[in-house]
Amino acid sequence: MTGGRTVVVSGASSGIGRAVAARFALDGDHVVNLDVAKPDGEVPGVRWIDVDVADWDAVGEAVAAVRESTGRLDVVIANAGISIRHGVLELTEAEARRTLDVNLMGVLALWRHAAGHMVRQGHGVLLATASVNGSRGYPLYADYNASKAGVASLCQTFAMELSPVVRTACVTPGAVLTPMQEAEYTPAMLDEVNARIPARRHALPEEIAAAFHYLASDGARFITGQELVVDGGETAGATTAF
Ligand code: NAD
Repeated sequence: MTGGRTVVVSGASSGIGRAVAARFALDGDHVVNLDVAKPDGEVPGVRWIDVDVADWDAVGEAVAAVRESTGRLDVVIANAGISIRHGVLELTEAEARRTLDVNLMGVLALWRHAAGHMVRQGHGVLLATASVNGSRGYPLYADYNASKAGVASLCQTFAMELSPVVRTACVTPGAVLTPMQEAEYTPAMLDEVNARIPARRHALPEEIAAAFHYLASDGARFITGQELVVDGGETAGATTAF
């Protein structure tokens, strides 16, 4: 069933989250965006609440308010994330903690608070944005890679504890063309990344949104505790041809 559901998406003011929120709103779902930043333009049908996902109590209050105002909580998508490019010899405690607080604790807070409501109402789907970085040692992203490995792990454990009432899944993107990518990479670097991807390009945010839309749907009702990799083949092959 789609349409009329209450869907919470964190980090939907920009990039992937914005496309995800727009996709669910198109179905007539009631979509709420939890983000520290003001939305990058209005998306019809999407309501913004100013929340830092690293603030455990604020996340709990926002989730409870959404549940209270709409009377339900069907799909919760923990998507907000940050990445800081630095070598392990350069990274600072403050930067590493912030990455883990937003990318890992932010998912845990949102899922933890939503799970209670979902168990009480007898159904729900918890989704998150992981990354192919979570299963590979991509240089210069040690803290980010670890945070995404942690997200995949949360997905498994929540499924074990909450099935069959609540389903969990992650979308695991490779490179996606969003403000996050454009801020970190020069055009030459983007070309170099594209050359390593069998599809020879970055994903569009809408292609990641389509995966979330499927995982939230009844068609995915037998999927739980798993990652859906959407990476244009980036992680399918060996790293050297001969
Ligand atoms: P983006 O920078 O365009 O969007 C991230 C959003 O999260 C922004 O709206 C930002 O304001 C919000 N946000 C950041 N910190 C927050 C906080 N503490 N509380 C609430 N909101 C916060 O980036 P994106 O590329 O769309 O990334 C979205 C997710 O996708 C992230 O989890 C990222 O790690 C993941 N991802 C991105 C790529 C990629 O190539 N872009 C690849 C794999 C995974």
